[in-house]
Amino acid sequence: MTRIGLGYDIHRLVTGRPLILGGLTIPFERGLLGHSDADVLAHAACDALLGAAGLGDIGEHFPDTDPRYSGADSIDLLKKVYTKIKKEGWELVNLDATIFAQAPKMTPYKADMAGRMAECMAVERSRINIKATTTEGLGAIGRGDGIAAMCVALLQSATTTTDV
Ligand code: MG
Repeated sequence: MTRIGLGYDIHRLVTGRPLILGGLTIPFERGLLGHSDADVLAHAACDALLGAAGLGDIGEHFPDTDPRYSGADSIDLLKKVYTKIKKEGWELVNLDATIFAQAPKMTPYKADMAGRMAECMAVERSRINIKATTTEGLGAIGRGDGIAAMCVALLQSATTTTDV
């Protein structure tokens, strides 16, 4: 059996914060604001995985009112989410994501983000694909108010059981 999940996240860009995407710190004059490190790519990936497994969303698992997740390293949350999913008998087929950012240019970092995410989930690098686009200056993202990410994940049953 295979199942698909969708994830989306957006955070505001502010001064005085590091920009962390896919677990990678990217040189930029502003960073994303959030209770955790506000890594929208990792958060969208968590929601896609949880969605595919039918396990709710990231807010249920790691509430932003919980002081334990203040400043949390979101790549660790992704690791925790994938561990939960594996316990439920699922494994990742592939994960595909798009980052929406007017700046900075993501091209130099996409491969390293994918590598970091694959490493944290202990899956083959080829199962993760990261894309990026601007919004051609349109809307809040085009003005540089924030960065968003969208992600889909496909899971398959890790076991060979025939009872569905
Ligand atoms: Mg978030």
